[in-house]
Amino acid sequence: MQCADLITYLSDYIDNDLPVELTREAEEHLATCHNCKVVLDTTRHTVTLLKEHGQVAIKPVRRKAMFAQLETAFLKQPNQPG
Ligand SMILES: [Zn+2]
Repeated sequence: MQCADLITYLSDYIDNDLPVELTREAEEHLATCHNCKVVLDTTRHTVTLLKEHGQVAIKPVRRKAMFAQLETAFLKQPNQPG
């Protein structure tokens, strides 16, 4: 799995909606990729905060836009791993 794939699956990963094998691939990538780990921690923290405070979770459209931005940011990086 590469960064762009991880970002694509990140939302479902946080929601535990990923198939087992994709979850395992995501965890393997996260174990070796600091960038994605930071993105995951930040995103999960935000989602958790919203839930804990009883606020409405980020709407799917909003989340899609957010992840699209993250994906774009990754793709702009000149040094793509692997
Ligand atoms: Zn990565």
